[in-house]
Amino acid sequence: MLSINDLQAKVEDKDILKGLNLDIKPGEVHAIMGPNGAGKSTLGNVLSGREGYEVTGGSVQFKGKDLLDMEPEERAREGLFLAFQYPVEIPGVSNLEFLKASVDAVREHRGQEPMDSVSFMKLAREKCKAVNLDQNFLKRGVNEGFSGGEKKRNEIMQMMLLEPSVCILDETDSGLDIDALQVVADGVNSQRSPDRSFIVVTHYQRLLDYIVPDYVHVLAGGKIVKSGGKELALELEEKGYSWIDEEVA
Ligand code: ADP
Ligand code: MG
Ligand code: MG
Repeated sequence: MLSINDLQAKVEDKDILKGLNLDIKPGEVHAIMGPNGAGKSTLGNVLSGREGYEVTGGSVQFKGKDLLDMEPEERAREGLFLAFQYPVEIPGVSNLEFLKASVDAVREHRGQEPMDSVSFMKLAREKCKAVNLDQNFLKRGVNEGFSGGEKKRNEIMQMMLLEPSVCILDETDSGLDIDALQVVADGVNSQRSPDRSFIVVTHYQRLLDYIVPDYVHVLAGGKIVKSGGKELALELEEKGYSWIDEEVA
């Protein structure tokens, strides 16, 4: 599904990713943990093709294609979905319009007609219900005045509508109360399938009690320095990250 080989990238002339390797098969959930400033968000930004992130080496194959060769929009249309730590607000564009435009773009890419407005409205309402978000949120500006928890629910709803192949959730648990965390986790779990993969970036083991990963990786100093099963997250929670530095050294 996604194969990252020796990926190197810099931001503002500073080397951040320094030879990162990660291989993700269909249906797998990979958690990425690691100290602040390790490059976790940079990885998500590089994969989604965000401006300002310069790839200086390595390669990324997405469903057999060269991901790094695609424009950001193309990556999204091919089925890469990134949920940001801090979702952007787009005042003046209704959430419903925005969601429909993104879904129609993906449909067009797959050679399908745009959805008619009535069917889309019905579908969007169903998804609102699934993430416990009032239907009024469809009429409001994108993320405009949404609370942290509402933004995350909205993002999960967007993910449900887009049906991506690879979902990257970057610290999607930060600042959430237990109820919102449960909604996000339920949303993700309901979307797990044999042909969809997830990268879940988190600082805290807690989220992984709800979204149980197949693999846990530690990203430190711009590379994956340790990988294991879900028990590695517990070990990190207990012991912190310094022992890994020692082990790597
Ligand atoms: P993490 O998500 O693991 O906490 P980041 O990927 O956000 O780490 O950041 C890694 C390093 O890259 C940090 O030193 C950070 O300051 C730097 N960095 C990331 N994005 C930018 C940017 N847009 N401009 C300048 N420095 C950046
Ligand atoms: Mg951080
Ligand atoms: Mg980050």
